[in-house]
Amino acid sequence: MINTVLGPISEDDLGVTLMHEHILVDLEGINMVKKTYTTDEVVDCVLPYLIDVKNKGCSTIVEATPNGLGRDLEVLKGCAEKSGLNIITCTGAWDGFNVKGKTVPKDIKEKSVDEIASVWIKEFEEGIDETAIKPGFIKMALGDEGEVFPLQEKLLRAAIKTSLDTGFRIQCHVWSKPSVRRTFDILREEKLPFDNFIWVHADVRMDFPLIYEVAKEGMWIEFDGIAGAKSYKKYPPVIKKMSDENIISKLLFGQDSGSFKIKENKEENETQNIRPYATFFDKFVPYCVKEGIDQELIDKVITENSKRVLTLK
Ligand SMILES: [Zn+2]
Repeated sequence: MINTVLGPISEDDLGVTLMHEHILVDLEGINMVKKTYTTDEVVDCVLPYLIDVKNKGCSTIVEATPNGLGRDLEVLKGCAEKSGLNIITCTGAWDGFNVKGKTVPKDIKEKSVDEIASVWIKEFEEGIDETAIKPGFIKMALGDEGEVFPLQEKLLRAAIKTSLDTGFRIQCHVWSKPSVRRTFDILREEKLPFDNFIWVHADVRMDFPLIYEVAKEGMWIEFDGIAGAKSYKKYPPVIKKMSDENIISKLLFGQDSGSFKIKENKEENETQNIRPYATFFDKFVPYCVKEGIDQELIDKVITENSKRVLTLK
């Protein structure tokens, strides 16, 4: 069974699944102090984009926004009910860009590795915040400033412990070269099977030798900069190589699309600039097919690979 915000579903009902999207994002950690929006305001804003991607064949969206970055179960439930999409939420913590802990809940920051892991494991076992809603994966973001800071290392080790205990996979945003190296060293040190780890934003550097090396060891490779990409030129050659080298079964697609952004001070008439959820179908797939990638191969990645990575071993 797969956990969605409206309850568990059969893995056979996942259908076409995009692995990395956002509905509500709060880069300033405002949500943890006060709520500056209404549920309806957010749902009304993103719903047309969700309905559009549903009409284009998508059935499931993996919502990669952990607690602190703007995970809001009421919003996610409203979006799932009104759009008919399956929406999968996550546990974990996000400390990307240069936010330096701003989006990590204060009580999590103060806890030890074991204590953090037990909070996250409890969400998988009992549900999030007294609800019956359970996450479907663990989200992490770290290392964007060229090193893995102590807080980020602690969170990563807690994520690894949670993954080893529950079997759920870690979706980890990491792209800076030294941080990628350090992260993979920590995985090895903690003996996390690479199959439990999704390398988010592997398409930032498109380092094929490294992609090949870790995918051969079982790691999932996620190409998910699609919503914000100015050009798709770098994608088809690497997808072809992954297919030729028999590692295509480890590829995942997401877009980093969305999202409604929470700000401390909203300017009047400010628009949200949502990156459409349907970009994958409107632009990316036609481009790849034109460049010689089989539609069948893309379909396999967004159905079978997504299903395998979301299913517990
Ligand atoms: Zn993201």
